[in-house]
Amino acid sequence: MQTVLRQITACPQPAIRTTTRHSRVHGLLWTVHLCQRHRKLAARLAGTGYVDSRRTRPTVPVDGKMPRCGTLLDHQPVALAVDSHARIWLNAPGGTVDGWPGRLRNAAELAAYIQSPDAAALAGVAEAAAAAGDDPSAQHHLLLLLARAEAAHGEQLGR
Ligand SMILES: [Zn+2]
Repeated sequence: MQTVLRQITACPQPAIRTTTRHSRVHGLLWTVHLCQRHRKLAARLAGTGYVDSRRTRPTVPVDGKMPRCGTLLDHQPVALAVDSHARIWLNAPGGTVDGWPGRLRNAAELAAYIQSPDAAALAGVAEAAAAAGDDPSAQHHLLLLLARAEAAHGEQLGR
């Protein structure tokens, strides 16, 4: 899977800690840069209450400057990426027979029902998800749309 650049906070602070997560099956899953206040998001992103402190390290400058808090370089396969969106911000009920496309469809329907500001973006995501199938470039496109919706969601909340 190609890298998807995500912004999981609307925080303007420079990051001070960097966390990377690997899986035995997929290799590098993601790298996230966070400030002191948002450090706990790393555990939420990982889906555990606990992230091994040895796996967090001081952030180093990228191209001469510190990355912004909430910058996430996401390398996850689509199903894991959708899970991580659901853990961070997206209300995407599971239990569908068709897995992640179904979760994204549920998310879009829910957002439309409650007239969420995210509704239009999520409708586009659900449409892209339904069409993506196993095509890696279509999945990548879908994850870029989802990342854009995530960043817009964060800006609305001032998260
Ligand atoms: Zn922050």
